[in-house]
Amino acid sequence: MRRISIFGATGSIGQSTIDLIARDPDFYRIVALTGGRNVAQLADDARKLNAEIAVTAEVALLPELRERLAGSGVEAAAGEAALIEAAKRPADWVMSAIVGAAGLPPGLAALEQGATLALANKESMVCAGPLVVQTARAHGGAVLPVDSEHSAVFQALIGEDIAAVERVIITASGGAFRDWPLEKLAGATPEEAATHPNWDMGQRITIDSASMFNKALEVIETKEFFDIDPALIEVLVHPESMIHALVGFRDGALMAHVGPPDMRHAIGFALHYPERKTLPVARLDLVQLGQFTFRAACETRWPALRLAREVMATGGLAGAVFNAAKERALDAFIARRIGFLRMAEVVEETLNRVSAQSGLITAGITLDNVRAADHFARVTADEFINQD
Ligand code: NAD
Ligand code: MG
Repeated sequence: MRRISIFGATGSIGQSTIDLIARDPDFYRIVALTGGRNVAQLADDARKLNAEIAVTAEVALLPELRERLAGSGVEAAAGEAALIEAAKRPADWVMSAIVGAAGLPPGLAALEQGATLALANKESMVCAGPLVVQTARAHGGAVLPVDSEHSAVFQALIGEDIAAVERVIITASGGAFRDWPLEKLAGATPEEAATHPNWDMGQRITIDSASMFNKALEVIETKEFFDIDPALIEVLVHPESMIHALVGFRDGALMAHVGPPDMRHAIGFALHYPERKTLPVARLDLVQLGQFTFRAACETRWPALRLAREVMATGGLAGAVFNAAKERALDAFIARRIGFLRMAEVVEETLNRVSAQSGLITAGITLDNVRAADHFARVTADEFINQD
């Protein structure tokens, strides 16, 4: 019997995780499930899986969650403190699938109680990679990547010497606008940006795919996860999304991870690691696919990729600032307050201004300092957004 908690259970990754767990109900005991506004889904899943506790991030929705769970024996709670309390409950395996920097505190709390953390929440690594790694180490826990590219790199590295790695290539579909002429991008709408050619994901990461901010976060995540020199990390546009990453070794070999665009592979790999178990994902018919294509990832078209390089060169809390500014710019784009191309400008202006504030970015990577940098970056980004 394995004790499982799922943070962000109502989202795209959370639901795919539940899909895998629900296939083997006798083997898992669900400790905590958490969600946001969708308390109907949260309560349904908590009942179905007989969870110990269900937590919504929205305090105002606690009465509704209580009502929906009445008579089920499932505890109900709400708010950030309740999320952290739920993460402290002993569990063997915890899925971190909240979107945004909000995923960091519960992930750290789960690591502090010694759980294995399956990390879909890439923002944790971008904002506080060294803190996440140290917390896992200090408490005997482990962090396993769930982002498809990082799961692919992790798998390609099994049994290998990291010193023999010459390059790590993560692929990008190019998102909704990969074939749009540059001139058209300024007028792109949130609805157009939220349509992904290959993957079915949450709204925010789908828009981040169109702007390449998702890949920018993932380049930083690669550096933090595998402690790899940024100069060895490459981005390759691969429109079919079948190759998730490639690792090149000093003897010239290039190991590619190939599979259908279905997150249940990476989630299932992390769930069963170090074993490999049968997973309900499609098997590729390579003859039918016929060919894979590749294009260069242009930093003029996608300035987010250039900014990721600058963030890695700056180090410290630059990742937390980058992510927070990106979250606010994305909020403003979704609210139609700024245009699609303005997002990268807001993030760059925020990075420049915050970097000039002495001490903020160079402060040690503690949760308090991450929160301070995140807060200051949000306020600063809002100032640039409000000027528009
Ligand atoms: P989603 O929007 O579908 O779901 C997000 C979940 O987080 C929901 O349960 C929501 O209720 C919860 N949530 C949102 N804001 C919250 C807050 N402030 N506090 C607490 N909970 C909150 O997102 P998703 O697509 O499932 O992505 C989740 C994470 O996984 C993101 O970090 C994303 O980058 C990463 N990821 C997703 C995919 C994918 O295929 N969807 C792939 C790789 C990585
Ligand atoms: Mg990814």
